Order: sequence, then C-alpha cells, then structure tokens
Amino acid sequence: MTIQWFPGHMTKARRQIQEKLKLIDLVIELIDARLPQSSRNPMIDEILQGKPRIVVMNKADLADPEVTKQWIAEFKEQGLTALPLDAATGTGVKDLPVQARLLMKDKIDKQLAKGIKNPRPIRALIVGIPNVGKSTLINRLAGRNIAATGDRPGVTKGQQWIKVGTEMELLDTPGILWPKFEDQNVGYRLAVTGAIKEEILNVEEVAFYAVKYLVQYYWEPFADRFELKEKPEELEEPDQIVAVMEAVGRKRGCLMGGGRVDLEKASRTILRELRAGKMGRYSMEAPY
Ligand code: GDP
Repeated sequence: MTIQWFPGHMTKARRQIQEKLKLIDLVIELIDARLPQSSRNPMIDEILQGKPRIVVMNKADLADPEVTKQWIAEFKEQGLTALPLDAATGTGVKDLPVQARLLMKDKIDKQLAKGIKNPRPIRALIVGIPNVGKSTLINRLAGRNIAATGDRPGVTKGQQWIKVGTEMELLDTPGILWPKFEDQNVGYRLAVTGAIKEEILNVEEVAFYAVKYLVQYYWEPFADRFELKEKPEELEEPDQIVAVMEAVGRKRGCLMGGGRVDLEKASRTILRELRAGKMGRYSMEAPY
C-alpha cells in the first residue's frame, strides 16, 4: 500500500517515532541499498535526536556490490555504521545484533563497571520508508511472522518487545518515515525500485527513466537479458531510448494491432524484470 504523504501525516509519523525513541537505546535506520539517498528520510538526523544508529542497507542482494562498498565508506566518513544485508533471505542479518552490541559497548561497559551483572538487552527500533523491508527484517530477526507487511502510518496497536537472541530486543512496530520527494529524479528512482507505485507517475516515463539509466551504466547485463544488439549513441535523444524500449517489447511479445509495440506493456515488463533482479544487480545512486 502506498501512503500519500501530507504535512499532517509527516508530523504524526515524526511524533510517533519520537515517542518510541524514549523506549529504546538504538535505531536501525533501514534504507534501500540501491538508493541510499532517495530512500532516506530528509529529516532523519533531526528526528532521531542523536540516538545511536545503525544504517542498514537492505536489498543489498539487488544492489551493485561495488557501489554498496563505496556507500559504506561514505557513511563511515559521516561517523555512521552501515551494514548491507538482505532481509528477504537473511544474508547479513546475524551481523546486526553484533554491530548493535559494538555500538552500545561503552554503555554496557559502564553498567558492568557499576556492578550490574546482567545488563538488560539493547532495545532497538526499526525505522524507514514504506516498502524498504521493515516488516521483512522484523520477522527475520524474530525468527517468525510478527509484523504484517504493508504500512499504515495512522494505525497503532499495542507495542511488544521481540527478543532477538539474549542481548537485543526490538519493538514489534517499526517507525514509518516518508522518503525524499524534493526532485523529480527522486520520484522516478523510487518508482523504478518499487518503493512507490509507478501509477503515481506515468509508467512509460518511469520505464524510460530506468532504460536510460541502464543503457548508460549497466548496458551489458541489460542488453544480454533482452538480446539487444545496438547501444544507443545519443542518450539525450529520447527516440533512441524509446527504440530500445520497443526492441524489448518486440522481444517479449508486447504487441498491438498492426505489429506495433505496446509501449505500456513493454514498460511494465521492463520494470517487473528489473525489480526482480533479472537484469543483474544495479544501484541508482553513488556517493560522489
Ligand atoms: P515495509 O513496508 O518496509 O515493511 O517493507 P516489506 O517488509 O513489506 O517489504 C517490501 C517488499 O520488499 C516485499 O516484497 C519484500 O519481500 C521485499 N524485500 C524486503 N527485503 C528484501 C531484501 O533484502 N531483498 C529483496 N530482494 N527483497 C526484499
């Protein structure tokens, strides 16, 4: 479900998270590894009020591993620990409690020094934009199905702590944040990756944006997938990009009467296969 974010929703979402901050030691900020800028909330630093935080780059299985490495270094420069993982299969998930402990080490050591033998588990809250994988990660950490997938910022229910091993506890309801919307590129990127529904924008325009990007940065896997022969020479020529979309449409049998390509169908096909990782791993934002 896609949320329409209005100022009132944003204020409410922010207030809900800040209420929860009082209960926890650490925030797990979930972002999409393919879109480390656009999938981050623009006010995150302000909202979290200096709470210790781990940035989790989810869906790392779909992202370009080289670019993900660059992002980890970039976050490190900013003083943030970033952890790539794949909540859907669980790859990397076991590192999360380990990193949480490392981040809270000083606090735990202080408790031990005070003679507290069994410091209580680290309490954590997952926050992130819709569709970034919050529910998937909560279920994965819990080892069972807790969180319903899908988001409703207005709906609250009784909160519970989920035990993650013996040293961490997680609030069962994540904090839902809005993405960056400030420019059109951001909207397109979020739509390409499926973070927002492409119907909000025009599906052909979203696919056009994706194809242009793939032609520029990931031509080989893209061309392999659809057996495309000729790489467009002029990226700024819309006709050349549309020609690629038509070639994909023909390959996939997206045709209308008279043998013309059904560009809308071709667009949906491109986006579906891209999101499913069929064209290989790609990132849409690099840290430079
Ligand atoms: P939420 O809205 O933040 O709670 O997101 P969900 O947990 O509902 O996940 C949104 C979609 O992303 C679902 O279709 C998940 O299966 C998928 N997903 C979540 N984590 C991953 C991941 O690490 N890799 C991949 N490929 N898909 C993921």
